[in-house]
Amino acid sequence: MAIRVVLLGAPGAGKGTQAKMLIDKFKIPQISTGDILRKAVADGTPLGKEAKAIMESGGLVSDKIVLGLVEDRLKQPDCKNGFILDGFPRNTAQAEALDKLLASLNMPITIALTVDVEKGELMKRLTGRRTCKSCQQMYNIYFTPPKKEGVCDKCGGALFQRDDDKEETIKKRLDVYDTQTALIISYYNKKGIMKTVMGVGSIDDIFKKVVALLS
Ligand code: AMP
Repeated sequence: MAIRVVLLGAPGAGKGTQAKMLIDKFKIPQISTGDILRKAVADGTPLGKEAKAIMESGGLVSDKIVLGLVEDRLKQPDCKNGFILDGFPRNTAQAEALDKLLASLNMPITIALTVDVEKGELMKRLTGRRTCKSCQQMYNIYFTPPKKEGVCDKCGGALFQRDDDKEETIKKRLDVYDTQTALIISYYNKKGIMKTVMGVGSIDDIFKKVVALLS
């Protein structure tokens, strides 16, 4: 049976990890509108030029552009056995347009799946990240701290925190996610295809739960 998933999950929830495992297991592509748009920008296509400023300001690219991209991608033969949509839909208009498009292609969404992690845990996962300036080794001061504070175990280099991992920025990103996805969640709830997996515990256990929900 084809698996057609809309995948939702806040930054830090581990959605990307689960997506990778789904791709491997079911041999279906992940369609990330963010990735497609970043490629269009990098390639300097007319569409990329239009999207560039909007993306840099953190706003949403117009529904028309994004829908056109998604439509082209979903019509590719590798989507016949299913796909994982990531970063799309971002609002109700996109969700409605997607349903219309998929109805015309006779391949409706089978499940909307949220990898859910409680906010305090997300804050720790994201604000706790530290990276070594010299060898790029990653740590988390709460979960996988270095033996000596601020110093890399591997090479003795200094650890630093990325600007976008600072508490205020993280809070903002999580708020944006909540606002955007609340509408999507209620949209798929009404359709009766919204499912949630708690994204805590081992990666393999989470994946088992994800697979159980899909089959
Ligand atoms: P992402 O990597 O999913 O966070 O996407 C990066 C940027 O691409 C977003 O901040 C938006 O500007 C744009 N983008 C990605 N997906 C969409 C979408 N479904 N609708 C509108 N804009 C999008």
